[in-house]
Amino acid sequence: MTLTKLNLIAGDWLAGESEIENRNPSDLSDLVGMFTQASADQLDATLDQARIAQAEWEAFGPERKQAVLMAIGTELMSRAEELGTLLSREEGKPLAEGKGEVYRAGQFFTYYAAECLRQIGENADSVRPGVEIDVRREAVGVVAIISPWNFPTATASWKIAPALCYGNAVVWKPANITPASAVALSEIIERQDIPKGLFSLVMGSGRSVGQRLVESPKVNAISFTGSVPVGKGIAAAAIQNLTKVQMEMGSKNALAVMDDADLDLAVTLALGGAFGGSGQKCTASSRLVVHAGVHDAFVEKLVAGAQAIKVGHALEAGVQMGPIVSEQQLQENLAYVDLGTSEGAELACGGQRLEMPHDGFYMSPGVFLNSTNDMRINREEMFAPLTSVIKVASYDEALSVVNDTNFGLTSGIVTQSLARATHFRRNARTGVVTVNLPTAGTDYHVPFGGRGDSSYGPREQGKAAAEFYTTVKTAYISAGTPV
Ligand code: NDP
Repeated sequence: MTLTKLNLIAGDWLAGESEIENRNPSDLSDLVGMFTQASADQLDATLDQARIAQAEWEAFGPERKQAVLMAIGTELMSRAEELGTLLSREEGKPLAEGKGEVYRAGQFFTYYAAECLRQIGENADSVRPGVEIDVRREAVGVVAIISPWNFPTATASWKIAPALCYGNAVVWKPANITPASAVALSEIIERQDIPKGLFSLVMGSGRSVGQRLVESPKVNAISFTGSVPVGKGIAAAAIQNLTKVQMEMGSKNALAVMDDADLDLAVTLALGGAFGGSGQKCTASSRLVVHAGVHDAFVEKLVAGAQAIKVGHALEAGVQMGPIVSEQQLQENLAYVDLGTSEGAELACGGQRLEMPHDGFYMSPGVFLNSTNDMRINREEMFAPLTSVIKVASYDEALSVVNDTNFGLTSGIVTQSLARATHFRRNARTGVVTVNLPTAGTDYHVPFGGRGDSSYGPREQGKAAAEFYTTVKTAYISAGTPV
């Protein structure tokens, strides 16, 4: 019998009102586990306890907070092999990516551990004589974190670590597709020297637990990563209580390949950016904007590279692309393949469901050629191992195509021209720009976020996270004259 994994409610591990099963998308015969689903009463109870615990935690000295975050980060890094295997087993990314994700999650905690000691305010003289001003940041309060399945440990960590660093309580609703990684991280956090109920895990469906959480007046701030429609609904709910909100919602990232590019580098970047994590990344290179001067040579190498990608069980050695996360996501991907073809794009390779020795959600990486930027496959986030080549006649046209999108998370250029690289870096309308690097893959100590439909609210990561997880207090002090 499989033991059901529990939620962390007001500091206690509790069963909820129902449970779900979690299966390995690489092999559906592999039951990862059973996971409880929080009830509405449990959500309210944990929010009440979080409020009490937050006041206590905020009063902890910076070294005590630093020690907590450092311990979480160190444990994640030292258990990257074990927890990365669990992550790959339930999400489907190849093992190297799963281990890398857990290690990176640890780095978010160790980075913010150090930030606990660097919370320095500002001071000023008042325009009024004899008055001094002290400006400092204080915790925002109880933070709801709603995270997606594609980076189940890293995305949650880049939200939880700054939330705790800046003195907040956290109520975390992870994606229901990847609960095992959520329980593993929560077990590590719960074991630390923190007030009872400072950190809650509320597994449950987005439509019930998630919706109730974002509608709650007991929440002071909501950090969300996921789809645009859900994000818009969360923003609408948040505004009813004037709750602070921060959202990151995917993109339609373009990689521009110029006629002076190192072609092998360009192909490597395109393949990694398009098919890493089965294309299920908000930073994926889903539009390849290619200069006519190198188009044919680039496309030949790209298609050969896509066809050579080894698709298979995420935990098998040598596998470069694992399965799609779920049957629903796979069906949506296949529908996009049909859509692209019906729109007039040419499917040069892949885009098919694959039969494997294990029963899972396998699909071959697909490349569309002769696509135009007005096609839906180039306007909507597919979140699939699919990429489209758009041929352009010049650098100027490339930049204009890159910027012609409702999204704006990342963009990249492959060129050996300093002038083009510099102009692109300054004029691409995205939150992240890369030069001779993939559109996916960012650091933890600098801001992350986008423009347009990609992001809403303050940036995440690095010192920029303070903007969301704190509120500024300006104090005026008249000390009088010493006698
Ligand atoms: P969702 O936006 O539905 O899910 C993201 C998170 O929000 C999950 O934890 C989900 O819970 C939760 N959620 C869902 N509905 C609500 C709600 N009403 N109130 C509060 N929380 C809610 O994304 P999906 O996982 O369904 O993926 C669909 C598409 O979204 C993808 O194909 C992709 O295009 C995009 N996406 C983008 C991501 C990114 O990194 N920017 C990440 C994930 C998805 P639950 O899992 O229980 O439904």
